[in-house]
Amino acid sequence: MDDNTKYITCSTHGRQQATYVCQHIVETLKDRKPRGFWSSEENPGNPRPDSWCNKCEEMVNAAGEWNDETEAEAGVSLICGACYDNAKALNRKN
Ligand SMILES: [Zn+2]
Ligand SMILES: [Zn+2]
Repeated sequence: MDDNTKYITCSTHGRQQATYVCQHIVETLKDRKPRGFWSSEENPGNPRPDSWCNKCEEMVNAAGEWNDETEAEAGVSLICGACYDNAKALNRKN
């Protein structure tokens, strides 16, 4: 049986695991400003769970859950696994 890993081709890193993050995390890859890094529960099959920034974390806490509205506000974006790792390292800096 196939695993559920999806792949995308990144212009920088080539074929990589497809990962989902909020648009603010994507911004950090451009301006390198840390915005915090929160992730959905890690699962053994996926070391790169969906992730979002401090602002989105606050928004979801206020809303009580992820729903169509909060997801739209977060602007969930697809990035490659290597970009994800970079974003994670950048966003965890103070
Ligand atoms: Zn965000
Ligand atoms: Zn990449």
